[in-house]
Amino acid sequence: MHTREIQSKLIAAFETFEIIDAHEHLPPEHVRTSQPVDALTLFSHYTRTDLVTAGMAPEAYERMKDGSADLEERWKSFAPFLPFVRFGSYARPAFLAAREFYGFDDINDDNYLELTEVMRKANMPGIYNSILREKCKIRTALTQQGRTDYEGDLLVPLMPVDTYAGVTTWQAVQERAHDVGQAVNTLDDYLGVVEAGLLKWKGEGVVGLKMRSTPYPPATRADAHSLFEKLRTGEQANVPGTSPLFTFLLDSTLDLAARHNLVVAVHAGMWGDFRTLDSQHLIPIVQRHPNTRFDLYHMGMPEVRQTGVIGKNFPNVWLNLCWCHIISQRMTVAALDEWLDMVPVNKILAFGGDYGKPVEKVYGHLVMAREDIALVLARRVRDGLMTESQAVEVARRWFWDNPKELYGL
Ligand SMILES: [Zn+2]
Repeated sequence: MHTREIQSKLIAAFETFEIIDAHEHLPPEHVRTSQPVDALTLFSHYTRTDLVTAGMAPEAYERMKDGSADLEERWKSFAPFLPFVRFGSYARPAFLAAREFYGFDDINDDNYLELTEVMRKANMPGIYNSILREKCKIRTALTQQGRTDYEGDLLVPLMPVDTYAGVTTWQAVQERAHDVGQAVNTLDDYLGVVEAGLLKWKGEGVVGLKMRSTPYPPATRADAHSLFEKLRTGEQANVPGTSPLFTFLLDSTLDLAARHNLVVAVHAGMWGDFRTLDSQHLIPIVQRHPNTRFDLYHMGMPEVRQTGVIGKNFPNVWLNLCWCHIISQRMTVAALDEWLDMVPVNKILAFGGDYGKPVEKVYGHLVMAREDIALVLARRVRDGLMTESQAVEVARRWFWDNPKELYGL
């Protein structure tokens, strides 16, 4: 059988799976339905990078997203850049969503007004359920919006490590303490506040924390102690990510995460000067915290091979393909093919849509994820290295069992 034929059969099998969406930035549904939407909403979020790189002014992009401004004028500022970005992985979910949910085979000058009308009608309570649960078969989506006020059991939050480790003023320290009903004078007092804060989050349904893979400076308790004293006397003694006090608070939080069974998700790669976000910066941290479970994001793109070796060598690291399929389907397929050689199949998480406002694009991203995973596995089936049913079982682990087990859902 040809690879394409096996791939199609596998995709059909994957479409029957219930899945865990292992990373989103979705706010509560009322936030989405209370905002105006239009055809340009489908080109918001990550597509920004490609539009701006193609030559669109950042201010023009910001105006493009402003649903209260004139749509025709905004479309005119966007349309010249569409031909430059439409074949990229970032744009594809917009076209997949327009077809699946709104019945348009393309998005262009001739139909954006009509598409907008249909989108506005659909922007009603229930839209999350119909897109995420009914269309995508997502049982649970892990989401990061720095908030925990989600109703129902569709969206489950993670919260930023920086909330506690990144305090930069004594007032912020006091506010964190006040939030959990404690008093703070010493560093040890503050560690008690951090623990109480994590437990409060757990009580609100939080299943994990989020940090970034940057080079953290070494920190001793003595360093942290003296910097905390400076913070108390009004000095700028803590700079998130770069001061020893931050590292000390981060390390303490990571140990508390292990004690209280919270997963630590880690952003790696892609943004801006991605050299500062290399997944390899995480290596000393995963070694210092062998009991903490890390969910390493985005294949560390473009450092996909190094990230695969981190997943291979460290039992406390899982590898999460959130965002990857819409960065590059080809890079994701090539890397995942190598990972299948290297990384045990119980350590990979297949999908996280990684979207905020344009919830429709979660569907488009999921279609692309199914294609990528089916292609990698179909080649193995074609080469006689696994059976079709073994391929389906591996994919079920990646889409369902692994995120479910890691996060205790
Ligand atoms: Zn994200």
